[in-house]
Amino acid sequence: MIIVMEPTATEEQIQKANAKMQALGFKTILNRGEVMTVIAAIGDKRLVQTQAIEAIDGVREVKLIQEPFKFASRESHKDDSVIELGRGVKIGGGEPPVIMAGPCSVEDDKEGLLKVAVAIKSAGGQILRGGAFKPRTSPYDFQGLEETGLKYLAEAREKTGLLIVTEVMDSQDVELVADYADIVQIGARNMQNFKLLKAVGKAKKPVLLKRGPAATIKEFLLAAEHIMYAGNPNVILCERGILGVDSAYTRNTFDIASIPVIKKYSHLPIIADPSHATGRRYLISPMAQAALIAGADGLMIEVHHDPDKAYSDGAQSLTIEQFEAVMKEIDEIIKFKNARKK
Ligand code: PEP
Ligand code: MN
Repeated sequence: MIIVMEPTATEEQIQKANAKMQALGFKTILNRGEVMTVIAAIGDKRLVQTQAIEAIDGVREVKLIQEPFKFASRESHKDDSVIELGRGVKIGGGEPPVIMAGPCSVEDDKEGLLKVAVAIKSAGGQILRGGAFKPRTSPYDFQGLEETGLKYLAEAREKTGLLIVTEVMDSQDVELVADYADIVQIGARNMQNFKLLKAVGKAKKPVLLKRGPAATIKEFLLAAEHIMYAGNPNVILCERGILGVDSAYTRNTFDIASIPVIKKYSHLPIIADPSHATGRRYLISPMAQAALIAGADGLMIEVHHDPDKAYSDGAQSLTIEQFEAVMKEIDEIIKFKNARKK
C-alpha cells in the first residue's frame, strides 16, 4: 500500500501516519520527494480499513498495490483452480469446456424436461440447468415450482447421468437446494446478497456465481471472495452480460473481455452465458464460440423442447435441434483450440 501525503503535510503528520501504519503491523519506508512524501507500507492490507488511513490529517490518498480480494486472487493461488463437480466432470485449468444447458425454468411438464435432458446428454453436454426458484422482474410472472422442480431435476439426473445446476434465491433454502443440486447457482440479481453468499459459503457444493447486471469486475470478484472467505473454495464465475446503452438489439451487453481479465487476476474458472447475455436465439452460437476463444471454461445455454411455449426466456431459448447444431460448432472451436495448443 502507498500512502501519499499532501505537499502541505507537516513533519508531525508524516510521523503520525507512519506510526499508524507500523502500529497496524506494516513495515514502512518513507520516501521524501521535493514536493511531497510517500510512505510505502509493506504487509497484507486486506483487513485494514483504508478509509481510516485516508482520514489521518495530511494524507492525500491511499493506493492499493495488491488486489482487494485474497482467496479469489491469482496473487495467492498461481495455478488455475480445477473444481470437481461430480461423476468425473471437472471445470477449470486445461479441462475441456463444460456445457450446462436446459430450460430457463423447470416447468410442470416433466416429460418436456426429460426430453431436453436426454438431448443435452446425447449432444455431449455434462450439466442440466433449470430454475426451480425463479428471480422474476415481475411478481405476476411464473415464480418456479420450488421443491417439485428440484425433484424433476433430480429425476432427470438419474435418467441421463447429467449433473444439475439450479438457483437458490434465499439463504433459508440453501440446504434444500444443495441437497438436490450438484452446483448451486447464485443469480445475477443476488450477486451482492451478502447473507446468501455467506450461506452458500458454508454449503458443501460448488457454487456458480453469476455477474450482477451492473457489477464491476472487482465487485464480481469480491462477491466470490465472500463465498470463499466463508469457507467454500469451489466457486465458478459466470459472465452473463451487463447493462449497456442499447437493449433494443441485445438484452444485455456481453462483456467478453471480462473473461481474459478475470483469468489474469483470478484462478477461478469462468463460464459464459450467451443466452442471458444476448437474449436472442441467433446470437447464442457466435457468442458461445467467441467466449470459448476468449478462454471460457464452459458455457450455460438455455434450451427448451418448445421455446414458443416456455414460461420464461423463450426468445433466447434454443430448440433441441438448434442446440445440437450449436454443439457441433462448439466442437469445431474446441478442436481448433486444441490444434493451436500443440
Ligand atoms: C438463470 O440463469 O436462470 C437466470 C435467471 O439468469 P441471471 O441470474 O443471469 O439473470
Ligand atoms: Mn433465463
